[in-house]
Amino acid sequence: MPAVETPTGLVRRARKIDRTLAETYPEAGCELDFDDAFQLLVVTVLSAQTTDRRVNAVRPTLFAAYPDARAMAAADRSALEGIVGPLGFFRAKTESLLKLSAALVEDHGGEVPGRLDDLVKLPGVGRKTANVVLGNAFDVPGITVDTHFGRLARRLGWTSETDPVKVEHAIGALFPKRDWTMLSHRLIWHGRRCCHAKKPACGACPVARWCPAFGEGPTDPEAARALLKTQGPA
Ligand code: SF4
Repeated sequence: MPAVETPTGLVRRARKIDRTLAETYPEAGCELDFDDAFQLLVVTVLSAQTTDRRVNAVRPTLFAAYPDARAMAAADRSALEGIVGPLGFFRAKTESLLKLSAALVEDHGGEVPGRLDDLVKLPGVGRKTANVVLGNAFDVPGITVDTHFGRLARRLGWTSETDPVKVEHAIGALFPKRDWTMLSHRLIWHGRRCCHAKKPACGACPVARWCPAFGEGPTDPEAARALLKTQGPA
């Protein structure tokens, strides 16, 4: 990497990294299971402070009982708490789902709106959740700045911003809009599997040669390989 990088150099390097991640993780995608926009919205809200794997495990029971916003808005609170119980924070999560589904029924006829402005007005829905739903259920390109995305964008020297909205705009300027959703999946996959928060597997990282933070984790290939997480959804 040059000592001083031009804006064009940064765009080229960022896109090289994304192409390499695309080759490394051809299966990258949304790790939450869903059948429609309502399910995706609900499971994304539920995924806060737990793993996608746990959310996927409660999903069949949840949507068998409450297949749409009307059914969920009318849910018995304690029955709903029982289903989301394994995810932790069950009272708060139940409250979120009841408010969210009530707002969908009252303001959108029970349907999930396909616009960012409408989505972020729903209770408990921030830009991150809205972009997940837009990108994966509506094919509207969106950048999802979760903890992995922000950490990697900074380590890779794509931005020094820490505010998620500023990160979203800074990274959006480096890539064509059509790539935003898949870029988000790939960066998050890389963060979950290789570029860990505490000990990144630098010595086994496919984009190490373009990363200014190389060396933040072990650079010895064997030690680094032992840190890779390759099995199943994170
Ligand atoms: S070289 Fe290290 S810090 Fe950079 S992306 Fe790879 S794992 Fe992360």
